[in-house]
Amino acid sequence: MGKPGDPRNQRKYKALRAAFLALNPSCALKLAGCTGRADTVEHTVPVAARPDLAFEVGLWLPACLHCNASKGATYGNRRRRKRSVRPRRLIL
Ligand SMILES: [Zn+2]
Repeated sequence: MGKPGDPRNQRKYKALRAAFLALNPSCALKLAGCTGRADTVEHTVPVAARPDLAFEVGLWLPACLHCNASKGATYGNRRRRKRSVRPRRLIL
C-alpha cells in the first residue's frame, strides 16, 4: 500500500472496507496461527494486477493480519522455490 494513485488510499475504499469488516468479522483464511479476527481485506484478485477491481467487494475475503501476511509470504516463497528448481546432475 502507499503508491500514489492506489485505490486503497481513497476515503471511499476505507469506508467500504470498514463496512465489509463489520459485516464479516471473522478471518476466512484460517491458516496456522490465525487470530480469527478479520482486520484486513484479502483481495483474491491482487489490486496491483487489477486496480480497477479494487472496489469489487465480491472478490474480497475478510482476513486477519496474520493470515494475510502469511499468504503473501507463501506466494513469495513459492516463487523463489520455483526459480531455484533445477534438474540435478546425476553423479555416478
Ligand atoms: Zn486468519
